Amino acid sequence: MPPHEIDHTHAPALRSWVASANEPETDFPIQNLPFGVFAPTGQVAGRVGIAIGDRILDVAAALDAGAFTGAARDAAGLCRGPTLNALFAAGRQATRALRTGASAFLAADHARAAREGAGPTGVLVRMADVELRLPVAIGDYTDFYASVYHATNVGALFRPDNPLLPNYKHIPIGYHGRASSIRVSGGPVIRPHGQTRSPDAVAPVFGPTRALDYEAEMGFFIGRGNALGEPIPIDRAEDHLVGVCLVNDWSARDIQSWEYQPLGPFLAKNFGTTISPWVVSWEALTPFRAPAFVRPAGDPAPLPYLRSEVDARLGAIDIGIEVLLRSRQMRDAEIPPVRLSRGRLTDLYWTPAQMVAHHTSNGCDLRTGDLLASGTVSGPTPDSLGCLLELTARGARPFMLPSGEQRTFLEDGDEVTMRARCERSGAATIGFGTCRGTIVPAMPARDGAGWSAPLPGASASP
Ligand code: MN
Repeated sequence: MPPHEIDHTHAPALRSWVASANEPETDFPIQNLPFGVFAPTGQVAGRVGIAIGDRILDVAAALDAGAFTGAARDAAGLCRGPTLNALFAAGRQATRALRTGASAFLAADHARAAREGAGPTGVLVRMADVELRLPVAIGDYTDFYASVYHATNVGALFRPDNPLLPNYKHIPIGYHGRASSIRVSGGPVIRPHGQTRSPDAVAPVFGPTRALDYEAEMGFFIGRGNALGEPIPIDRAEDHLVGVCLVNDWSARDIQSWEYQPLGPFLAKNFGTTISPWVVSWEALTPFRAPAFVRPAGDPAPLPYLRSEVDARLGAIDIGIEVLLRSRQMRDAEIPPVRLSRGRLTDLYWTPAQMVAHHTSNGCDLRTGDLLASGTVSGPTPDSLGCLLELTARGARPFMLPSGEQRTFLEDGDEVTMRARCERSGAATIGFGTCRGTIVPAMPARDGAGWSAPLPGASASP
């Protein structure tokens, strides 16, 4: 399959018989068709769906109704479980076939629309009526550090004399995160406890973090895996990538600064990660592919295993990411969320294919459903910084909210929302939905050693 081929499913003029999919502001026009998992409120088993406007196409119900033929029918047959893993395991051929089949089924067909009114019934549900679930059973989660602007800014805050370490421009730097604490958008994020030491103190203390932060990232899902001991060459790397979602890598900066040397982030980041519910397929992103980061003169060329002509020409993805904040006081006063930043994924120094090639270059096996996150997406301008650590210079430059409140890091009750869109002239705009989390208070300490049950507001919700 050619790696970057625009076809009839991307045509900007394509319309759907689902009316809300044709609204200019929707994230989910017929050119997108992202995959997710939904369930009627209170129901246990999730079902695989495809977002279309403000509706969800129930893939198994559509299959039973005869909506798909050929390869699309085979791919839809992999969607009877409660996650996208079986579909992703079948690789790009399957995700491409299902998206193409769904496009044909959902495209405006005036003859059929006239015959059947609003279109076939029983295969669509209203997104507002269901819960969106974690779409993928994620076995392993790796977080990269691919924005050179983020790496330089953060390095300057922690090591003013030595911001960018000498390996940065040679290695896609990353760390192994924790998959168990990944949750889908909409739930609470409990302020974590941890060990911190202020610069003027001799001994550390244990307590709730006072420097809770978000990180605006995109995540890339692995489709087909690779065998242990068999690296994925860079020119085959995109065969193993099936889709993209928003990622918020919540981070406790005070815990991080005390624990991160010598082995990198640990408890500062594994207490919670939020992802958006919809996985935008690799195929839907084709019109938004872009050249890889152009390295300034004097930067080293990547080593051969990280170098590819196709990747240099089209390895990046042009996605705009914005971060919005709304405090509890703003919600109570009905003040809308305030935008804190806008970043672009083309500012990454490394491409997704380079991340995959590097990750497997030692023989490490990636498995279906693994999530590789980009690292904080920050750009060169002050309005493009993807976390509060950078926006407030580690708390040294507080900012004001429209409510008159001041912020350095996140307070209890703060709601962080991330959105992302792909916009390019000559293409239909597609979006990623929302990735949202609300900070709830730390669990109350008991004798400084343990905790009682979570506060009411912190109880689990999807
Ligand atoms: Mn991160």
